[in-house]
Formats: sequence, C-alpha cells, structure tokens
Amino acid sequence: MKCRVCGQPANINLKAYNTALCAEDFISFLENRVLHTIKKYHLIEDGDIPVVAVSGGKDSLSLWHIMNKLGYGADGIYIHLGIGEYSDISLTKIQHMADTLKRKVYIFNVHDLFRKGIDELARAMRRPPCSACGMVKRYIMNRVCIDKGYTVLVTGHNIDDEASALFGNLLYWKREYLWKKNMVLHGIEGHLSKKVKPLFLCSEREMAAYAILCNIDYIYEECPFSVDAKSLVYKGMLNKLEELSPGTKIRFLKGYVKMVKEEVEERDYCAICGYPSYGGKCNFCRLLERFKIQGNIYFEEHGACNLDSPQRMVT
Ligand code: SF4
Ligand code: ZN
Repeated sequence: MKCRVCGQPANINLKAYNTALCAEDFISFLENRVLHTIKKYHLIEDGDIPVVAVSGGKDSLSLWHIMNKLGYGADGIYIHLGIGEYSDISLTKIQHMADTLKRKVYIFNVHDLFRKGIDELARAMRRPPCSACGMVKRYIMNRVCIDKGYTVLVTGHNIDDEASALFGNLLYWKREYLWKKNMVLHGIEGHLSKKVKPLFLCSEREMAAYAILCNIDYIYEECPFSVDAKSLVYKGMLNKLEELSPGTKIRFLKGYVKMVKEEVEERDYCAICGYPSYGGKCNFCRLLERFKIQGNIYFEEHGACNLDSPQRMVT
C-alpha cells in the first residue's frame, strides 16, 4: 500500500476515506480534518477563548496538542477524581503536556472539597460512579470557564463515543437526550459555557495512531469505571457495520448533525451559585448542603481550581 499523497509506503489505511497515508501525511490529514470541523460547524469563532477538558487519555491530550498547533491557544482543565493510581498517572501526563505546550492547566481535586474520591462520593449519593462524576465534572468545568473568562469548553469525544451514545439514545428513544447531542451546545452568558466537540468525526483508531505518531505521552489504561457494558456492545456493533460498509459512522453522525436543532429550554438558575438548574437549587449545591460544606466560602478561598502546584502560565 502506498501513501496517496506522496507515494511512499503507507502507515495507515483509512477505509472510510478509501485512502492510505504515510505517517507524515496522516498527521496533516487528521489536523486538517479537525480544523475543517471547527470551521464548518462554527465550533470556535472569532473572539472565543477556548479551554480543553483533559483527562490524560489519547483523545483529550491529542486534541489539546492539535488546538495549540492550529493556533487556537487553549489552556486545560483537569478534574482529579481521586481514583487511586489512575488519577495520579493521568495528572502526570497532563502536567507533562502543559509543560510542552507552555499552557496553563486548572486542576480541581474532588477529594479536597468533599473529603471523598468519586467512588465514595457516588456510594454516599447512591448513584453509579459515572453519574456522580458527570455531575461534578459538568459543574466544575462550567465554573472554571465562567470564573476564568473562557467562552468555550472543548471536549475530546470522538466519533465512536458519539455514534454509540446516539445509537443507544435512538434504540430506547430517549428524547430528552437525543436532541441534546449536538456537537455545539450554546451557552448562556454568565451562567453556562458553550461546549464543542472538534473530534466528533475522528475515530478512536485514528486518535490512537495520531497520539503514537506524535509521541504524545498519554495514559493507556481506561478509567476503571468505564466498563459500561452497553456502550462497549454498541461500539462493537457499529464497528461491524463500519467493516461491512466503511463510512457508516461518519454518515450516521453527519446526518444527525444536519437534522438536529438545539432545543432552547426554559432555564431556572440555582439560588446559590447562579448556574442552570431544574429547581430552586442545582444538584451540586444540594450535594454540598447534604455534606454540610460551605460551597461559596470554599470557592472564594480556593477558586474554581484547588490544587496549587501546576498553575503554569502562558509565556
Ligand atoms: Fe468518570 Fe465514569 Fe468517565 Fe470514569 S468512566 S471518568 S467515573 S464518567
Ligand atoms: Zn448551584
């Protein structure tokens, strides 16, 4: 197999695009795809100040690297979930990338606020770990964006994540989630940050290849709570369809994005923190109350990021 651009031996075969590329041309191809996605879907516009949600994995660290390479100077946010070695190793990978990029990374340590890691917190809330984690992450990331003046929160969800979530929502006709899966979710000034997913047309396999070819030092292990049987089954089924008919996932996602219209919901705002809620108080503030934690005092003292060390400044 030869690279379609330069004719040298190819390193990767991209069946969905009916092409094969060498390492160098694949790197340019993937970066151009991300740039094209950002522009075509208006993910980041003039005047926006992006910040990337980083987990230490291949997708988010590669995205952070690509954004800065493309000229979208972006800082990072990391939530330390207190999941033993997994969280500590992830943090070292993120600090390393922050040093390489010379960007700032905001780090919030869940244990510092709740005196519990996410697992224990979830048990106390009688929720699955991912549900507690999602709630805490959404709140803290939004808070960092608003407190620190970022206008767009950028996440590393790839096409496999998005296609399997969409597939699951369709199978069960979860209307309440189905129409909220757009690749750009608009914000509300002072209350809610805009959220975008520039990797939604890039596959897990492509992102792993990109990270390896660019020597990005990421954590190979997945979060121990990520063994969500259903989403793995959906990913496997979609991969089979993709094998039979390359490009299926891209058509599935692109078709959805063409059709979806963001539903503008009536919003309430939390009486305590002012962020969106579905009642008088948001879930996060209710949780703080339940554990008798003075949230406002805490955030005033510590800011939205509470781990001292790695506040790296932009040079
Ligand atoms: Fe959080 Fe679940 Fe993802 Fe782990 S797998 S980081 S607990 S949402
Ligand atoms: Zn609140």
